[in-house]
Amino acid sequence: MSTLPSASIDPVKLDRLAEVAVKIGLRLQAGQDLFLTAPVAALPLVRKIAEHAYKAGAGLVTPILSDEEITLSRFRYSSDAGFDRAPSWLYEGVGKAFANNTARLAIVGDNPMLLSGEDPAKVARANKANSIAYQPALEKIAGFDINWNIIAYPSASWARQMFPGEDEAAAVKKLADAIFAASRVDRDDPVAAWEAHNAALGKRTAWLNGQRFASLHYSGPGTDLTLGLADDHEWQGGASMAKNGIVCNPNIPTEEVFTTPHARRVSGRVSSTKPLSYQGTLIDEISVRFEEGRIVEAKATKGEAVLAQVLETDDGARRLGEVALVPHSSPISQSGLLFFNTLFDENAACHIALGQCYSKCFLDGANLTPEQVAEKGGNKSLIHIDWMIGSDKIDIDGIKPDGSRVPVFRKGEWA
Ligand code: ZN
Ligand code: ZN
Repeated sequence: MSTLPSASIDPVKLDRLAEVAVKIGLRLQAGQDLFLTAPVAALPLVRKIAEHAYKAGAGLVTPILSDEEITLSRFRYSSDAGFDRAPSWLYEGVGKAFANNTARLAIVGDNPMLLSGEDPAKVARANKANSIAYQPALEKIAGFDINWNIIAYPSASWARQMFPGEDEAAAVKKLADAIFAASRVDRDDPVAAWEAHNAALGKRTAWLNGQRFASLHYSGPGTDLTLGLADDHEWQGGASMAKNGIVCNPNIPTEEVFTTPHARRVSGRVSSTKPLSYQGTLIDEISVRFEEGRIVEAKATKGEAVLAQVLETDDGARRLGEVALVPHSSPISQSGLLFFNTLFDENAACHIALGQCYSKCFLDGANLTPEQVAEKGGNKSLIHIDWMIGSDKIDIDGIKPDGSRVPVFRKGEWA
């Protein structure tokens, strides 16, 4: 494998992406350490990030790289008992690093279908073991203790999945251009472009927070859903402040404004509008019915068995942990591409997530205990899986505590 950037990846834009990750995504502070994970194929970007991080005064940059071939070796040759193992010692260390104010960067770029040919039961066991072991670190990410950021690298294996008809160089170029445009590094001054984008998202969240809706009502093809919002919920979008006081942009790209639904106040039916790529399986045409916040019926035309397994993870896996609004006219939606990756696909449409909530999406969220979050309706689970329910046919009303309704979305756009 070559670790040089592919000739079809524009080196200027790749350098800008690294700069945006450090200056906007993380807003890395002088003296702060950085822990980062990436596929080995993304090494050209990892090197650029290390360069920008040290120029910004980073203390120590510690990368951990993963490799698709090594992952496949595990699934082909590991003993059966090995699928219940995960490196908890590593995640405990990562949790300690976060407790010491280390920033976190994740670069995504793996082939989203890497495990599609492997035994789904083994994939599920490996994921569950990993989720459990990862808990000490995930808590600090979900609780927004430190500044963190996810960005994407246009790896060849991902590009081949998205553009199967193209030769590799052309596919990588298309994916690279799509990532660069969505991440706003196709502009001359991407840092300024991000500041303007953050201001626009901030206006939406301020309006929603002023409305104090008790619930949202969704209607559209296959959807008639009343989604209660958590007590004292707070809408967020774009840049926000981590508990360590650093204002960062966790996701690049991002087009969503989002908050916490009430885990016990969701009722009705909702249908997915895009396929969900989950650990190498496509789950398509999902339709679920909620009663008192809990999924009591779940169907899918593809991947139904995997969906059923996901819902069995724990009690919180059947309940919602996030609701997000994204207009149908968002640039990622308009690209018409399915990335098979949540970081991109969730920014193409309104979505909801099964599982763990973000405690930062509450008024004074930084000071709430897990028990207070649960009392206000925040959900708890080992999983957090976003799936798309938005389209140009969806209408959303906000419902106030007195029952009055305010149009929020009409035909997929802000009303
Ligand atoms: Zn989201
Ligand atoms: Zn989410």
